[in-house]
Amino acid sequence: MSETGAGSALSQTRGSLWPWWSNEAWDRTSFTWDLWYGCNYRCSYCWWEMGDLWADLAKKHLILPPEKWLTCWDRIYDRYGTVRVDVLGGEPMRYPSWKELFEGLSRRHLVSITTNLSISMADLRDITDKISPERIHFAASYHPQFAKWEDFVEKVGFLKSRGYAPHVLVVAWPPLLGDLSRWSEAFKKMDVPFTTSVFQGKHEGREYPDSYTNEQKALLGLTIPVAEEQRYRLERESTRGKLCGAGHVYANIKANGDVYRCGQDCLGGAKPFGNIFDANFGLHESPEPCPYQHCSCGEFAFLWEDWSRKKGRRELAVADSLRRGAAREAGRG
Ligand code: SF4
Repeated sequence: MSETGAGSALSQTRGSLWPWWSNEAWDRTSFTWDLWYGCNYRCSYCWWEMGDLWADLAKKHLILPPEKWLTCWDRIYDRYGTVRVDVLGGEPMRYPSWKELFEGLSRRHLVSITTNLSISMADLRDITDKISPERIHFAASYHPQFAKWEDFVEKVGFLKSRGYAPHVLVVAWPPLLGDLSRWSEAFKKMDVPFTTSVFQGKHEGREYPDSYTNEQKALLGLTIPVAEEQRYRLERESTRGKLCGAGHVYANIKANGDVYRCGQDCLGGAKPFGNIFDANFGLHESPEPCPYQHCSCGEFAFLWEDWSRKKGRRELAVADSLRRGAAREAGRG
């Protein structure tokens, strides 16, 4: 996709909606947080499923009462102010006491949850009663091997009707490629951004993303929202040696509180550089060169050349988002 194409995809998230959940829009500190490794689905293309890792990973996650986690996040607030927390899993909205956890987390931080939306409608109503659209975003991941289309669409529509700005993600696993256009059209009609994530793994003996045909890449180009995703994930351009803000303006937190510079750092066998339960935890003082050939986890958004280039655009978008949030909160009060 060209810069123009990326811009038009993003424009769906700007304007009347709140873009703070986008890396294109957010210029403050952010974290991804693998809250836990429990999920009610077992999708064939999931990294944990392909590697048969669920049982091993579950030994590492911590099931804690919300206040234990919130103490850590309060310390992060004291040090860095409001940050954006992208919560991943497993399925975050199946973690014990998840509503209390996200309600507490969203008081000081902005929370984006990648969810399969399998929770009940009553729970969805409840969480949206508790947290306003300015504080929480739902990245709704559609997993057709397990989710029912009508149910998923109904929940996405419900979120829209309540003023949230959900976007829908699908993993571009080869057996799903034939349905992408149909799904994309359906969400376009609902004014809901629809994007695909590049499949990374083996299917029918072939390694992906290297085995996507040119035709398939062109199809994916229509649903990949940012140029960097194409460049570094689909086309596999090397990031080694490039200055990167991961570890400095961003970090990847694991389910035991360990903090890595990025997902690739963890996959690459590096040691965590901190743990959020440590009262002295802090990020690196400056960006550092990337030591890896490939950036597989989507964090190339923090490559310093792109981060700096987009900063001006982000400042405008975030200021607008916060202004809207403040106005809305004042209206509620
Ligand atoms: S470019 Fe990617 S792999 Fe390299 S340090 Fe940055 S986030 Fe990590």
